[in-house]
Amino acid sequence: MNVPRSLYIHVPFCAHRCGYCDFTLVAGKDHLADKYLDALTLEIDRKLQTSNDRDPSAKEKPQLDTIFFGGGTPTQLSAPQLERLCGIVHDRFELSPETEFSVEANPARMTADKIAVLADAGVNRISLGVQSFDDATLTMLERDHRRSDVFGCVERVRSRIANISLDLIFAVPGQSLALWETTLQSAIDLSPTHLSTYGLTFEKGTAFWTRREKGELPQAAEELERRMYEVAMNKLAAHDFHQYEISSFARPGFRCLHNQVYWSGKTYFGFGPGAASLINNERRQNHRSVTTWLKKVLAGESAIGDVEELDPESFARELLVLGLRTNDGVDRAWFQETSNFDLDQLAGASIGRLVTQGLIEEAGSTIRLTRQGRFLADTVAGELL
Ligand code: SF4
Repeated sequence: MNVPRSLYIHVPFCAHRCGYCDFTLVAGKDHLADKYLDALTLEIDRKLQTSNDRDPSAKEKPQLDTIFFGGGTPTQLSAPQLERLCGIVHDRFELSPETEFSVEANPARMTADKIAVLADAGVNRISLGVQSFDDATLTMLERDHRRSDVFGCVERVRSRIANISLDLIFAVPGQSLALWETTLQSAIDLSPTHLSTYGLTFEKGTAFWTRREKGELPQAAEELERRMYEVAMNKLAAHDFHQYEISSFARPGFRCLHNQVYWSGKTYFGFGPGAASLINNERRQNHRSVTTWLKKVLAGESAIGDVEELDPESFARELLVLGLRTNDGVDRAWFQETSNFDLDQLAGASIGRLVTQGLIEEAGSTIRLTRQGRFLADTVAGELL
């Protein structure tokens, strides 16, 4: 088996569900956290047991280059629960001092005792869900922290963990371009190592979707959203944040290694409700319902809700689309080596059309999105998949 060197653990707890959120989580059900950790232990042990059965040479603990605890809100767990979670990982996987160990955190719940637990366990990167520095925008987004929470939180985290990424959302109803620029400046002033910026999306099934359908929530105009993205690209570049993916900007040396695993077609473990893993060209998606996942795993049944066998061409096309998310783009030799497909034989006609439309450009042996293409990445993906 091609043993993954990356691990994702989904922690599905939040204090409440924000109106725009469709992630796998339970809100206000922290009493399930210990049961969740029991189930997670079982799920990981079963998976590693199966791997060892299949490959007798894999008796050692799997070595990890990257770990990511996402959610939900991992820091919704108490300090002792976070310690247990980190212990589950350390007992079953081999980490090195170079392992990138990221945890998503909520500014409202990042207390000193939790930071100490995480730092002591080797966590060396924190991704803070700041979203905005404007209290009215945070209220609109139904976030449970305020601007003032962010500053103290960054200071506390930085005293133990220097590598801090901030997430920001733009195109929020009522948010002006000037307000977005101020938000970007506030983020820059905090000197994070990394920033991720996302345009607000209205996902079916969320409260925001319903409110928009009823005409209660105005979606930002497309042109405004586009200008906000443009401003982010320009402003962050001017402050030495290098855009390396559609939504990701890093100071030199601080790209997120874990996300790069997803974009480069490498294998990864995924545990917890809704988590996906990619091993041997098979994508396995766990049950998205937290209670179904809990019940199944605790009853000794499989955590997996869906298995997708990726045939070689589907894998290659997906690799192409994911690779194009990155500013480095897709190098023809790398693509051939990773997918066993010749890029031009696989998608030459589509690439030609996208080049003519100004969405993709050739740069030596590499193809990549143009600036215009970054605005229309979904259109490009639709053409290539
Ligand atoms: S804090 Fe994040 S994960 Fe939790 S409900 Fe809000 S947006 Fe979703």
